Amino acid sequence: MRVLVVEDDDRVARGLLTALRHAGYEVHRVATAADALRAAPADVVLLDLGLPDGDGLEVLRELRHRPGTAVITVTARGEERERVLGLRAGADDYVVKPFGTSELLARIEAVLRRTRTHRAEPEAEGPIQIGPLRIIAATRVATVDGEPLSLTRKEFDLLALLATRKGEVVSRDFIVDQVWQAHWEAPSRTLDTHIAALRGKLGGHVRIETVRGVGYRLAT
Ligand code: CA
Repeated sequence: MRVLVVEDDDRVARGLLTALRHAGYEVHRVATAADALRAAPADVVLLDLGLPDGDGLEVLRELRHRPGTAVITVTARGEERERVLGLRAGADDYVVKPFGTSELLARIEAVLRRTRTHRAEPEAEGPIQIGPLRIIAATRVATVDGEPLSLTRKEFDLLALLATRKGEVVSRDFIVDQVWQAHWEAPSRTLDTHIAALRGKLGGHVRIETVRGVGYRLAT
């Protein structure tokens, strides 16, 4: 997944690049509107609306014509008007500076999920096979070497979510949002407890890696 960061503030850009690369994205950064329009296609564009050489909204309108590119606008606190104009001009979502890494990653994942669904790419409908692990979403069965795992409902949901994104880091916020109710503030420990239980049941055949401060990844 490619992310293009359009940001003129070097310090903000550096932080973003580090966080996004850490989460497994391929990231490019440009600092001007002109370069943003010349840049190679990306799956997600993080677009600062306050650019030195032009109106970020113009860039947004241009990017809207590119199918398969989602745009998340970045505005400073108090720039509510820009935010609304951005959404009206077709932005998929927005973040307000200063924002946390996990919030940003959750928003990126959400827009990617939406654009992927729109493109009707094969979602995880059929069985997913990862080494000895096999997950059949339709019947909610997970097996290791053909032996069914005894999983609770949430453990299955959690494993299935990680499996559909095998090899990618899935942020804690996104997991909680997907597996538990979006509006229920699941204590952080709940997720950790479920991960620990899953690891125990997978018995080392399949590894769930912790990416500190970000989330989890199912190793392939
Ligand atoms: Ca700026």
